[in-house]
Amino acid sequence: MTELAESPLTAGDRNLSVAQARAAIAAALQPIAGSETVPLTQALGRVLADDVISPIDVPAHDNSAMDGYAFHGAGLQPAGATRLQSVGTLFAGAPYAGKVAAGQCLRIMTGAVMPAGLDTVVPLELCRVDGDVVHIDAGVVRPGDNRRCRGEDLTAGRPALHAGRVLRPADLGLVASLGIAEVAVRRRLRVALFSTGDELRTLGQPLDAGSVYDSNRYSLMGALQRLGMEVVDLGLVADDPAALQAALEASMAQADVVLTSGGVSMGDADHTREVLARLGEVAFWKVAMRPGRPFAFGPLTRAAHAGTAPPCWLFALPGNPVAALVTFYAFARDALLQLAGATPQPLPTLQARSTATLRKRPGRTEFQRGIVERAADGGWQVRLTGSQGAGVLRSMCEANALVVLGHEQGSVAEGGLVDVWLFDGLV
Ligand code: AMP
Ligand code: MG
Repeated sequence: MTELAESPLTAGDRNLSVAQARAAIAAALQPIAGSETVPLTQALGRVLADDVISPIDVPAHDNSAMDGYAFHGAGLQPAGATRLQSVGTLFAGAPYAGKVAAGQCLRIMTGAVMPAGLDTVVPLELCRVDGDVVHIDAGVVRPGDNRRCRGEDLTAGRPALHAGRVLRPADLGLVASLGIAEVAVRRRLRVALFSTGDELRTLGQPLDAGSVYDSNRYSLMGALQRLGMEVVDLGLVADDPAALQAALEASMAQADVVLTSGGVSMGDADHTREVLARLGEVAFWKVAMRPGRPFAFGPLTRAAHAGTAPPCWLFALPGNPVAALVTFYAFARDALLQLAGATPQPLPTLQARSTATLRKRPGRTEFQRGIVERAADGGWQVRLTGSQGAGVLRSMCEANALVVLGHEQGSVAEGGLVDVWLFDGLV
């Protein structure tokens, strides 16, 4: 285990497990600085920069959770029916000014403010009404039932949402329920993106012999957009040190992160290593995983502000289209969220039964593309999507999850439980 004597981040080549690589990346990164205030209507998916403190109690008043009759719970008869006289009707948004004596009740609508002293609501369907007399059978309600208490949802002065939260639709509603119209969010993480490879063609160009269309830039752009990142698209870069250096310098000038694919993580040719060594401290990893394996990560130093400005972080993914996406989800996704200031939110993992035998050797992590679905017995099962080659992007399109076979794990028998990372709708 000599590779552990030095930090995995030391420039040079390292053999690492997936877990070691993830830990090394997480340990290196600090969230970016900078925030802005945006209206709630534009805050979906943004990262909260500060706690949102509730200025009010929500709900602001005790109110009825049901349509029914409000009364003093203390007057409920322990045995036999309770008879109450209805003395008025209460609508939501129209507080009641009068007094309600013992033995009396008020017809009340859901959301209407509970009049002072009344603490219990009997739902309409649980009582019998005879003229203005309401009968409640014993045991139907207890004192305090069907009343929403002031501050039950949120208490004034307490955080309603915490900094680092990636805002979801319900959060926007929650902030609105406090009467707050705008929120402070972190600025978006800026990610420069380019593909490397002389054989790559951009869309619209003819596909001459031996060339392929650049697909990685489109799948990675989608993955970045799903995460709410700002993408700086730098297009295609030839396998040429001067072109690579120019693209990296352009990235460093305008982005927090540069995400590349191809060129065996840029480390295959000595001249690319020289370029990277000039610009920063990039570590070349051989990660014990499939697909993936070559991966490079490290800080590029902004020479103009050396020592003061945070670095531009390079994530260099392998070129094979499936490997590029798998390494993105395995290493880049959580790291980019961390840089963006988000609280950790790894892809949800669940266990499913494999519908087939899976061959696997211990000593590396395997990510296979799978379809998670309900089995006949109601549990979760997963079947693989056709060919698992690292270049077969269709397998990724058909999948709704990655089957993750852990580092130490061996083959899995049919019906055996495997971990899956769900990504349908999430990535
Ligand atoms: P590399 O990592 O550069 O050795 O590329 C490995 C394989 O992935 C080769 O077959 C490349 O043609 C292919 N590849 C690399 N980059 C891309 C890309 N941006 N889009 C599609 N295929 C790519
Ligand atoms: Mg290449």
